[in-house]
Amino acid sequence: MYYKYKTSRYILKYVFLGGRDMKLPFQMDLTGKVAVVTGAGGVLCSVMAEALAMCGAKVALLDRTKENAINKAENIVKQGYIAKGYEANVLEKESLKKAHEAILQDFGPCDILINGAGGNNPMATTDKEYFEMGDIDAETKSFFDLEQSGVEFVFNLNFIGTLLPTQEFAKDMVEKEHASILNIASMNAYTPLTKIPAYSGAKAAITNFTQWLAVHFSKTGIRVNAIAPGFFSTKQNQALLFNEDGTPTARTGKILAATPMGRFGETEELLGATMFLLNDDAAGFITGVCIPIDGGFSAYSGV
Ligand code: NAD
Repeated sequence: MYYKYKTSRYILKYVFLGGRDMKLPFQMDLTGKVAVVTGAGGVLCSVMAEALAMCGAKVALLDRTKENAINKAENIVKQGYIAKGYEANVLEKESLKKAHEAILQDFGPCDILINGAGGNNPMATTDKEYFEMGDIDAETKSFFDLEQSGVEFVFNLNFIGTLLPTQEFAKDMVEKEHASILNIASMNAYTPLTKIPAYSGAKAAITNFTQWLAVHFSKTGIRVNAIAPGFFSTKQNQALLFNEDGTPTARTGKILAATPMGRFGETEELLGATMFLLNDDAAGFITGVCIPIDGGFSAYSGV
């Protein structure tokens, strides 16, 4: 029933309305500010990019998949806001530099950076939650079968993919009186989820790095914070949450049972904390924190 409701709501909103019924949780004025959002071709960060544009920011949407960045930006422009899509790989300095140069020409120096590119990959995922005797020789992909390249891919995408864009764009920000970086952690940052050791470690590294950067930039105008989304049904976790026929996996049942509010988050529910942390008037003395947006998941012991 819940999934049917979600699917019809999704079709109504994104297919018929073109995603244009989004309401901001509150208003803030970002007129004249330049915001750079990585992973902005994806589900969560495209909505964050749209929200920043609705507040008046000039938004640069960066994604490895150029077409997605451009499409999402065009959707924002159609609504009368300022945005442009750029191809950028967060794991390649040269690619980030090229995008940065184009953004400087189009919009000017960066005030706000959302490090959104990230995700897990089946290459770094074990088949089973618990090791059982016999798994080493069995067909199943056990911990011992994880390839170094797969683990490195996921770790790098999430951690190095946050570090390199920060190196590139924070160069603009150190010159500013007020600037803000928002990183995206996850529930894995607090307690690792089964099966996904690289993603868990990388997201724990993100909260640690958020604190490190906050201290490092504390003598400048840059504040650095993070959000830790709980469970939102998007592309990156489809294979773990839903079977090929669309029915929920056993893991989905466990997630919802461990989420006191008993449901997945709606993407728009990330916007309140995102906008609060980026707002200098509201959060001017807040740096180095990570806000969970998780329906109570991180607070619940399971009993
Ligand atoms: P998504 O897959 O919809 O979006 C991720 C985007 O990043 C994609 O558009 C992809 O093309 C882009 N990307 C991947 N590799 C890249 C690279 N090397 N360079 C540039 N762009 C690249 O995923 P999402 O659910 O919107 O996730 C956004 C962020 O939120 C990620 O950091 C993810 O780990 C995090 N997160 C998601 C959830 C969730 O429930 N969906 C929960 C916690 C955290």
